[in-house]
Amino acid sequence: MHSVFLYHAIQAGMNIGIVNPALLDVYDNIPKDLLEHVEDVILDRRDDATERLLAFAENVVGTERENKVDLSWREKPLQERITHALVKGIDAFILEDIEKARQEAARPLEVIEGHLMTGMNVVGDLFGSGKMFLPQVVKSARVMKKAVAYLLPFIDSDKVGPRRQAGKVLLATVKGDVHDIGKNIVGVVLACNNYEIIDLGVMVSPEKIIETAKAENVDVIGLSGLITPSLDEMVHLAKEMQRQNFEVPLLIGGATTSKAHTAVKIDPQYSNAVVHVNDASRAVTVVGDLLKVNSRRKYMEDLKAEYDVFRENFGKRGKIKDYLSIEEARENKYKIDWNTSEIVVPQTTGIKIIEDFDIRNLEEFIDWTPFFRSWELHGKYPGILKDEVVGEQATALFGDAKALLKKIFDEKLLQAKAIYGLFPANSVNDDDIEIIYEGDTEEKRMTFRTLRQQLKKHQGKPNFALADYIAPKESGIQDHLGLFCVSTGFGTEELAKEFEKDHDEYNSIMIKALSDRLAEAFAEYLHKQIRTTEWGYAPQESLTNEELIKESYSGIRPAPGYPACPDHLEKLSIWEVLKVEENIGVKLTESLAMWPAASVSGYYFANPEARYFGVGKIKEDQVRDFAERKGISFEKAEKWLRPNIAD
Ligand code: SAH
Repeated sequence: MHSVFLYHAIQAGMNIGIVNPALLDVYDNIPKDLLEHVEDVILDRRDDATERLLAFAENVVGTERENKVDLSWREKPLQERITHALVKGIDAFILEDIEKARQEAARPLEVIEGHLMTGMNVVGDLFGSGKMFLPQVVKSARVMKKAVAYLLPFIDSDKVGPRRQAGKVLLATVKGDVHDIGKNIVGVVLACNNYEIIDLGVMVSPEKIIETAKAENVDVIGLSGLITPSLDEMVHLAKEMQRQNFEVPLLIGGATTSKAHTAVKIDPQYSNAVVHVNDASRAVTVVGDLLKVNSRRKYMEDLKAEYDVFRENFGKRGKIKDYLSIEEARENKYKIDWNTSEIVVPQTTGIKIIEDFDIRNLEEFIDWTPFFRSWELHGKYPGILKDEVVGEQATALFGDAKALLKKIFDEKLLQAKAIYGLFPANSVNDDDIEIIYEGDTEEKRMTFRTLRQQLKKHQGKPNFALADYIAPKESGIQDHLGLFCVSTGFGTEELAKEFEKDHDEYNSIMIKALSDRLAEAFAEYLHKQIRTTEWGYAPQESLTNEELIKESYSGIRPAPGYPACPDHLEKLSIWEVLKVEENIGVKLTESLAMWPAASVSGYYFANPEARYFGVGKIKEDQVRDFAERKGISFEKAEKWLRPNIAD
C-alpha cells in the first residue's frame, strides 16, 4: 500500500517537478524522513536517491510505519501517552511510562486502577461503538498485560489486598473439544474490561468446571465448543449446575452453538440465566448486564422470557415439516446411470504417508476469508482489504499474519503431516459403502454408514446420501473411495504457549488461526494431487485458488461432522483403516474431535456427479436403522446423532 503511494509520489514528482500549493497541507503531514527521501528523488539531490527511497519503503510496512515515524504522542502528558499506547496497541514504550507512573503514584495498584483502566475504558468505548475492531483490541490487551505483569511484583510486596475487578469469569472449552480461538478472544476482551478471567483451557471435564466455579466463587461461567458432540456436553453441564443449585449465569458460545440450541436444549435445564453469545463485543455487554446489581434480576427475567418465546416459535416451525420414512427416502435416492457414468480406476491404491512436507507449498492454497472471520472482520478476501469500514484493520491484520507466516516458514515452526488411501469400494444396501483394504476378509468388510436426507422434497428432487455417489455392488462395476487426514498443527500449541508466556495473546491467537488455515490449505493441496495424479481422474485440471475455494473441481471431499456426513462416528473407521494415530499422530478425543486442532479428515468421492449437500434432520426410524447397521445400541446412535434428529 505504501509502496504504491511512494510510487505515485515519485511519478508525480518526476513528471511535474513541482508541488501543487493545494496539497501543501497534506505535504506538511508527510513524515520528515519520508519527505527527505522523496525529495531526494524529486529534486535529484543524490545519485543513490531512488535506491535509498526503495530501501526505505521496504522498511515501512502497514501500521508500523505510523508507529515508527510519528512519535509526537511521546511529548504528551503521561496519561495520554499510556492511553495512546493502549488504543494503538504499541508496546515499545509502555514499561518506561508505567515505571514513571509507578514512581508518581502513592501505590502501584493505582497505576492499574487509574492509568491503565482509564486507557482501557477508551478502548472499551471505541470497541463498543464499533470504532475499533477486534484485532486492535487484542493488541491493546497485549500492552495492558505487559504493563500489569511489570507492576505485579511491586503490588505483591505492597500487600494492599486484591485488585478491584468487575467480576470473575470462568471460561472453558468443554470435554472432548479442542478448539479455543473464540474462547480466547472472549477472554481477552473481557479482561480488557477489567474482568478477572479463569481460563481452564480445552477438553475440560464438567467436574473440573463445577469444582473450580465453587472454589473460585466465580460470577459467570462461559462454555465454548466447536463440534456437535459439545452441544450435549453443555446440556449436561447446565443440568449439573441446576442439580447443585448454582445461581451463576451461563454463557454459551462456539461454532456449532446457536440461539436455537441454547433456547431449546440448554435454557430449560437451568433456572438461572443462560445466554448464547457468539461475538466478543456482545460478551462484554451481556456480562455487564448480568452482573449489574440493581438490574440483573430484570435482565435475567427478560432473557428467560425471550428464550421462552423463541422456543415456542421454534417448536411450531419444526412440526410443519414433512418427512419420508427411511424406506421411502431410499426409493427416492439420487440415481446415477452406472452404465454411462465415468468411473476412473486410480493410478495408485493403498495407504500413503506424507511427512517432512514443506509447508511453504501451502501458502497459495490458503482461503483467507475465514481467517478474517475468526477475528470478527466480515467480508470476502481480497475485497476486505479495501473495505470502507474494516479495510484498514484487515490490511494491518493481514500484514501481521503474513509476517508470522514467513517466520513459520523460515524457521520451520510447524510440521505438516498427511495420510491417505484410495480403496476399491462399492455401495451396498443403498446407504453403506464397503471398501476393500489389506487385512479385511470377504466376510468382514470395512463399511462406512452414510445418512440419508429424509425431509420430503419437491417433485423430482432426490433424497441424497453420500453412498449414492459410489457404484452399487450389484452393478458389477468396481468403484473407489478415498480416505484422508491432514494436519498442520504439530508445533502450534508450543508456539502459542511461548507467546502467552510473553503476554502476547495476539500472536497466540494468530498462530492458531494460521494453523487452521494451513490445515484447510493442505486439504485443498492434497485433494488437487489426488485429482490430478494419485487418482488421476482430472489430469488436465488447472484451477486458480479462487476456483478451488468455490469448489469448481470435479468430485468432493466431505468431512465427517459436516452437513453431508454429520455423524462423527465414521471417523473411527477412517482411523482404523489408515491407522492415522500410529502413522501420523493425529488423535481423536472422546467426542471425536481431532487433535491437534489444525487437522482435517474426510473422504474423496471422484464421481463427476458428486455434490456437497446437507443431510438435515433425520427421523427416529433412520436412527434405529443406523444403529442396527453399525451394530451399536439405539441409545448410542441417538447420542451421536442427536443434533440431527428431528423433534
Ligand atoms: N475453503 C474453506 C473450506 C471450508 S469447508 C476453508 O479453507 O475453510 C471445510 C471442509 O469441509 C471442506 O474442505 C470439505 O472437506 C468439507 N465440507 C464442506 N461442505 C461440506 C458438506 N456439505 N458436507 C461434508 N463436508 C463438507
